[in-house]
Amino acid sequence: MRVTFLGTGTSQGVPVIACSCPVCESKDPKDKRLRTSILLEWGSLNLIVDTGPDFRSQMLKFKVQRVDGIFTTHAHRDHIAGLDEVRSFNFKQKESIPLFCQQITADKIQRDFSYIFSVQDYPGLPKIDLCPVPLNPITFKGKTVVPVEVMHYKLPVWGFRFDDFTYITDAKTIAEEEIQKIIGSKVLVLNALQREEHISHLTLDEAIDLSQKIGAKTTYLTHISHNLGFHETVSKELPEGIHLAYDGLNIDL
Ligand SMILES: [Zn+2]
Ligand SMILES: [Zn+2]
Repeated sequence: MRVTFLGTGTSQGVPVIACSCPVCESKDPKDKRLRTSILLEWGSLNLIVDTGPDFRSQMLKFKVQRVDGIFTTHAHRDHIAGLDEVRSFNFKQKESIPLFCQQITADKIQRDFSYIFSVQDYPGLPKIDLCPVPLNPITFKGKTVVPVEVMHYKLPVWGFRFDDFTYITDAKTIAEEEIQKIIGSKVLVLNALQREEHISHLTLDEAIDLSQKIGAKTTYLTHISHNLGFHETVSKELPEGIHLAYDGLNIDL
């Protein structure tokens, strides 16, 4: 299984609109972050978690040739805004693409992208099979995917466990029974927005504490704002086994 970080940033951290802070002006490519998303590959099977506003550029940048399924953490724009671009894969693969998420996420996607799900089947529209599922393991193409519910302030968001890899973004808190689903993962991904307190996102210290509580051998941090500082500086401060993820990072498990 291969994981590629397609993006590790947030809408705050993307230097598109003349942010002249030192991190946005950094020459280190690891300080250039597209919005948070990952690609998981098992041979020719490709799954994507989240399709934010940078989805199209991420597909081009990482030369992704097919998408078999989409797993959506929640319906905030930085995680779903690129859904329209799925149409390119529909044209190429000549099939609709399933999207797995919880019911509230499906309802919001259906409202935000009503034209995709309208009754008239207009030629050329993206074809997405919206699959709202309960908080139970999902079996798809021979893989078992375990959703993990986390809280993003008051919004329930889903992380996903794929074999020994667990991916969590946009969490602030995780209930004890959900933490049990993560324990035993070899590689854990957690969000860490910035050092300063935030109402709906783990801070760097909170993410480190949570990683140590869960006890994963290796943790990568994602959904990083420019407020966190330079990749190189922050990386040096992290405890053993905890790393900042960056766009293009690959992990083989
Ligand atoms: Zn969010
Ligand atoms: Zn987000």
